[in-house]
Amino acid sequence: MKKIQNFINGQLVGLSENYLPVYDPSTGEVISEVILSNNKDFEMAIKSSKNAFLKWSEITPLKRSRILSKFKENIEKNLQLLAETVSKEHGKTIEDAKGSVIRGLEVVEFATGIPHLLKGEFSQNVGPSIDSWSIRQPLGVSAGITPFNFPAMVPMWMFPISIACGNSFILKPSEKDPSCAIKLAELFMDAGLPEGVLNIINGDKQIVDKILTDENISSVSFVGSTPVAKYIYEESAKNGKRVQALGGAKNHLVVMPDANLNQAVDGIMGAAFGSAGERCMAVSVAVAVGDIGKALVDKINEKAQLLKVAPWTDQSSEMGPVISREHKNKILNYIDTGEKEGAKLILDGRKINIQGYENGYFVGPTIFDQVTSDMTIYKEEIFGPVLSVVRAKNYEDALELVNQHKFGNGTSIYTSDGEVSRHFTTNSNIGMVGVNVPIPVPMAFHSFGGWKQSLFGDCAMHGEEGIKFFTKLKTVTSRWPKSIKSGPEFKMPTN
Ligand code: NAD
Repeated sequence: MKKIQNFINGQLVGLSENYLPVYDPSTGEVISEVILSNNKDFEMAIKSSKNAFLKWSEITPLKRSRILSKFKENIEKNLQLLAETVSKEHGKTIEDAKGSVIRGLEVVEFATGIPHLLKGEFSQNVGPSIDSWSIRQPLGVSAGITPFNFPAMVPMWMFPISIACGNSFILKPSEKDPSCAIKLAELFMDAGLPEGVLNIINGDKQIVDKILTDENISSVSFVGSTPVAKYIYEESAKNGKRVQALGGAKNHLVVMPDANLNQAVDGIMGAAFGSAGERCMAVSVAVAVGDIGKALVDKINEKAQLLKVAPWTDQSSEMGPVISREHKNKILNYIDTGEKEGAKLILDGRKINIQGYENGYFVGPTIFDQVTSDMTIYKEEIFGPVLSVVRAKNYEDALELVNQHKFGNGTSIYTSDGEVSRHFTTNSNIGMVGVNVPIPVPMAFHSFGGWKQSLFGDCAMHGEEGIKFFTKLKTVTSRWPKSIKSGPEFKMPTN
């Protein structure tokens, strides 16, 4: 059985003897084992990261940028391999996996601009012969804890920026799909990254708790479910660390009666069922406004029935399995609950059977209509291919739904009315908003982050907020004295 270890100081190492199984979600078979690191593994990572930081922070931003450029080339050359590594352990289609690696690569591309991004501000003559300027300095050893659903992209929201800013970085990937992180670290080192600047430590809650309490770690970046995000935020803050903790979501897509219906349906199909709904920007609620409801539900249902659900190895697959048996059962329970609570089940994904893959964790596309805001399937994040359609009388009611929900990650509106769009983008209580686009994921040079229970902390990921998060601001005020050497007789030339 293949054993996945840690990547510390440029080496694959592991002292702990405890391992967890890693599954192929398409077959339900164990394909490898990942180390559950112990205290000694952790200490090794800390020592390496501390030493690496001292030298790395002295390297000029321009040289760091050149290494990042080479890393970007390495990712491009290994795109297929990285995507397959993601698909094998996660189960998503190869196209989805490739897309996610590319979104991560774009953050690396953004980080290559670090000499420009670290330029501070300067004010001349804040007083007589006094100037003032600001610089942004690295924090030290930074750490990241990431979820299973994007094993390449989400780590790349964090470590390229942190490292570009002059920090060293310890990554604790999801124990469900840990292989991609190690591959990325190897590619980064091949690009010239010194040993120890990026260390990967595998494990579960036990190792996360070490990260949250170790005094050598300056900052914690987290992406995962809301209860854990809240815990990470509180514990990190308690221990004096800078923290950004991104949580779960329940994203609403509002379809106005004047929307281009075909565009809205295409958007909902990809956003609700892509990656089996295991995306924090997935659309899990479609809000049908006015009289558009029936036509919308009929069209989504028609298309969803044709969706090809198959393992990633089948080139024609449009949707793979979910991550684990436990998660599959959780989704099936939510569907049972939806039925019990009175939602109208239009398409039932519970009984899907894929020949040859009977033990895989497949759930078919599922659609509920007439969902109301008091139902469990509306209130909670399901994180699977389950779409709830809610009917709203008018735009005001639709906006109220969006704003009343406890999550605030993403939302979108489909309409041809500019005034409504503008009102929606201004007044929705949500971090990332789209107009006539289904998944408004910001590009790497903007920042990614939700509001309310979807983000705990002050800074979103990447873009300007990422640079701010991974650096400390210093402001210098300097009076320029008369040089003793120039003597009392020296006079400054005047114009
Ligand atoms: P998770 O919260 O179970 O795990 C995330 C990470 O935290 C993993 O590395 C895991 O090992 C660790 N962890 C789990 N339980 C812990 C505990 N009790 N104490 C300390 N550490 C713990 O999340 P997941 O199931 O891997 O990922 C899915 C969740 O992530 C969904 O809720 C999804 O919405 C969210 N997500 C959010 C975003 C975003 O940008 N807001 C992006 C991707 C995923």
